[in-house]
Amino acid sequence: MTASVIDGKAIAEEVISKVKSATAGIQEKAGVQPGIAVVIVGSDPASQVYVRSKGKRAKECGFKSETHELPETTSQQELLDLVGRLNADPSIHGILVQLPLPSQIDEDAVITSILPEKDVDGFHPINVGRLGTGQIDSAMLPCTPAGSMVLIRKALGKADLSGLNAVVVGRSNIVGKPMANLLLAANATVTIAHSRTADLPSIARTADILVAAVGRPEMIGADCIKPGACVIDVGINRVPAPEKGEGKTRLVGDVNYAQAAEIAGSITPVPGGVGPMTIAMLMANTLVSACRTAGLEPPQF
Ligand code: NDP
Repeated sequence: MTASVIDGKAIAEEVISKVKSATAGIQEKAGVQPGIAVVIVGSDPASQVYVRSKGKRAKECGFKSETHELPETTSQQELLDLVGRLNADPSIHGILVQLPLPSQIDEDAVITSILPEKDVDGFHPINVGRLGTGQIDSAMLPCTPAGSMVLIRKALGKADLSGLNAVVVGRSNIVGKPMANLLLAANATVTIAHSRTADLPSIARTADILVAAVGRPEMIGADCIKPGACVIDVGINRVPAPEKGEGKTRLVGDVNYAQAAEIAGSITPVPGGVGPMTIAMLMANTLVSACRTAGLEPPQF
């Protein structure tokens, strides 16, 4: 079998165009323009690239978009004060503080200071709790797992995953655990595997839906794939690529794509799979927040 490729780029564009048209709709119905504020502390080049592309996407969607660039030496209180001002600003519906933060700042304190309804990253303990207790409709869902769910539903052509076995490899708070909760909420039977799991391949081979969020280049090989499975590769790993020239690198996922594509039914590539969905779902979350504030039913993604 050769797997069909789940085109994350194209599906992310579909999400963005839904956000654009719903943005025009709420402006017309309620006079509300969704607003997002992205806060970056320090000058980490990778974070700056992410922040710029978030701002660009937000403008494309028709949002009010502001970026707050703070110096590396910013104190925790200064950052909390800024979050407080953004919490109080009615034109801002989504606040994203780019992680990681410099060591003088307690990340948990900052995440908890964001109003849960404006927490478009979905990391606030209230949103984590809502997702964990199945209150999906009132939670802000973390972008990468929420985007992965969109890809799974597209690939399988259904929203209800009753009767399907899902295995999530990885148990981080930002990907593995929320991913498992979203799959459970969609009625899949879910197993979470991690670094202490014995015989990972035999567990992974039970998966009709296999999600890899490990951070280890191409670790998930042919021995982990059930024939026909839907394989979602969250991993983004930069590895040396001497074939492209000295010192060159390339991106690979946590799944050995060439091996898995021979066995799986559908699979996400890296790059071009889960990656583009993350920013698209950030836009979706900002729109959802603006709709909830305006008392309007948000669209389903
Ligand atoms: P973390 O490092 O926080 O978590 C990795 C998880 O993998 C841990 O739960 C760990 O287990 C588990 N693990 C590590 N080694 C093994 C192993 N040998 N066998 C089984 N499980 C193992 O990573 P994240 O969840 O933050 O990210 C995972 C990947 O996803 C990374 O490549 C990251 O770059 C990528 N990512 C991509 C995003 C996107 O937009 N596409 C967004 C976020 C992340 P244990 O808990 O036991 O240590």
